[in-house]
Amino acid sequence: MALDDDAVSAPLSNTPLPGADGLPPPVPAPWRWRPGFAALGPAFYTELPPRPLPAPYWVGRSRGLARELGVDDAWLDSDDALQALTGNRLLEGSRPLATVYSGHQFGMWAGQLGDGRALLLGETAGGQEIQLKGAGLTPYSRMGDGRAVLRSSIREFLCSEAMHGLGIPTTRALAVTGSDAPVRREETETSAVVTRVAPSFIRFGHFEHFSSRNQLEELRALTDHVIDHHYPDCREAQDPVAAFLAAVARRTAALLAGWQAVGFCHGVMNTDNMSILGLTIDYGPFQFLDGFNPNHICNHSDSQGRYAYNQQPNIAYWNLFCLGQALLPLIGDEERTQAALKAYPGAYPAEFEGRMRGKLGLASERAGDRDFIQATFRLLANERTDYTLFWHELSRHMAGGPVDPVRDLFIDRDAFDRWMLTYSERTSEQPRRLAADLMHKHNPRFVLRNHLAETAIRAAKLKDFSEVHTLLTLLETPFDEHPGHEAHAALPPDWAAGIEISCSS
Ligand code: AMP
Ligand code: MG
Repeated sequence: MALDDDAVSAPLSNTPLPGADGLPPPVPAPWRWRPGFAALGPAFYTELPPRPLPAPYWVGRSRGLARELGVDDAWLDSDDALQALTGNRLLEGSRPLATVYSGHQFGMWAGQLGDGRALLLGETAGGQEIQLKGAGLTPYSRMGDGRAVLRSSIREFLCSEAMHGLGIPTTRALAVTGSDAPVRREETETSAVVTRVAPSFIRFGHFEHFSSRNQLEELRALTDHVIDHHYPDCREAQDPVAAFLAAVARRTAALLAGWQAVGFCHGVMNTDNMSILGLTIDYGPFQFLDGFNPNHICNHSDSQGRYAYNQQPNIAYWNLFCLGQALLPLIGDEERTQAALKAYPGAYPAEFEGRMRGKLGLASERAGDRDFIQATFRLLANERTDYTLFWHELSRHMAGGPVDPVRDLFIDRDAFDRWMLTYSERTSEQPRRLAADLMHKHNPRFVLRNHLAETAIRAAKLKDFSEVHTLLTLLETPFDEHPGHEAHAALPPDWAAGIEISCSS
């Protein structure tokens, strides 16, 4: 990763960090820092150090991401790293801060929120923000305790790296550390800290915050910051802010297409959980579909099904309207704002159908594809056929395997045979090898099913982290066979249906 000219390794400011007096001296950072979000100034955040946790231990580390960050194994194995990534020591040059944002939660304006338990340690010279989630109270913690539990931290860690492996835009996770310090949720659990990594953790809610308070200078500064750092092409446009809104809409469309195609339910698509970069962010009660149920609700607190699987693309559009509303004072014209938002319905169908054609092994577009994709979803919905297995077995069949493993997933064999006839006609127009290669890249063998995460969490609570490590290995390359791990790709056990994932994390 190239180091920028303005990269600095000395502290970005010489004024003492408020509240850091009692902390032990910092440890050397494994990367150089550059000014990033912090340069926006104190209207956007509060500087404060993390709160230490007793006797931390490693739960999981992503060595792949560490390599991408230029961090060597020796550092990632060091006690310095363990202490720094738990928030017990500062990294040299880091001035941690919690950012302020607002947002719409479950369709209602929620007012001010903010990083209630996340601290931005800084931005690396390579342009990656490093954040600790669960590192203690901040001015934005509201009723919360600033902590994250081991259970939800393992889910976030594994799913971040799984999404990356699947080729779906996401924030990443470098590590999870744990501590036996108790945290009160429905029951008493233990603490953990996730080190999250992304080019930016800015959300739609950051823009809503300043716009709702009519702080137009700050809104302008934030928008300029995001355009200059993340959407430089928009600067050339006649109306850079409208171009930026349209670009966010297109990235969001690509994100949602990725989610829908892989069968991912986010669970809490509030505007404060929508990344301005179109990344999957804030893993909470998410779920990969087992049996295909288009109405599936993964969040047990979502009684109305606002964030059900089949609602997600529309909700993303609703959220983009909130962003459009927030940017309206800068664009200055309602029609141009509406026109920019149209980029979402303009992009989503092509993004989604492109992903679905990949899953079906269709190398080119044909009239009737949209109907056939819908017919495929109806077939799967009919019997709630296992979503991941269906696609994987179909890929194997197209790669030369027998059809029975796919056909056996259905009770109504006639319905399957009718579908298969149309599918065979459609695929007969192109070489089978081409279909098989495409399908191999689009149909994962491994996704982070709820029961897999649950098994790893149960063992981790007993200090056995081997299943976390195994899952990470499988999910980093989810399209590979991984011989010996057939059980991780199999149908969920009966007990999986009873797993309830609440918002509490
Ligand atoms: P979420 O629904 O998890 O995205 O969280 C909504 C808001 O609540 C965000 O501003 C979070 O920072 C904050 N929050 C969630 N859990 C906690 C916690 N345990 N302590 C402090 N703030 C929290
Ligand atoms: Mg959130």
